[in-house]
Amino acid sequence: MIRPILRYGERQLHETAADVTAFDDPLQRLIDDMIETMYAAPGIGLAATQLGVRQRIFVIDLSVGRNINDLIVMVNPTFVDRDGTQIEEEGCLSAPGFNATVVRPKRAVVKGLNRHGEEQTVEGTDLLARAFQHEMDHLDGVVFIDRLRGIKRDMIVRKIQKLKKSGKW
Ligand SMILES: [Zn+2]
Repeated sequence: MIRPILRYGERQLHETAADVTAFDDPLQRLIDDMIETMYAAPGIGLAATQLGVRQRIFVIDLSVGRNINDLIVMVNPTFVDRDGTQIEEEGCLSAPGFNATVVRPKRAVVKGLNRHGEEQTVEGTDLLARAFQHEMDHLDGVVFIDRLRGIKRDMIVRKIQKLKKSGKW
């Protein structure tokens, strides 16, 4: 089932998620919904917090469904290693129409559980490392706009407030 994606400014998007403790049917349904919602958007990553669910889960698929082996489902993820830096344009399904350059690690290793509660470790470089950091931020209630500084951030926040006032956000 495709679920609505929260937008920047909606309270639940900015809250910290808690660890998953039960690998039951509702969790499996939630993960299926996350994958379906990500593909439908379409996007390359989605965190549970973007659906208003305060659980530490994210899904990433750089192929957007073209290659089943590219699908990563991470539950209760933590970083075990991060190094280097990259500066690239970034966007978010919770802030459609806005892009900005964000500094991210060049390489990131994430350890967590798969959808059945089994341990897994995945290493990412470049875009995948960026996606890991972006989705991990969501689980702490942080959107890429919050990572920006100065004029660029003010400009985006002002535009979003304007869109909200006119009912277009
Ligand atoms: Zn995002």
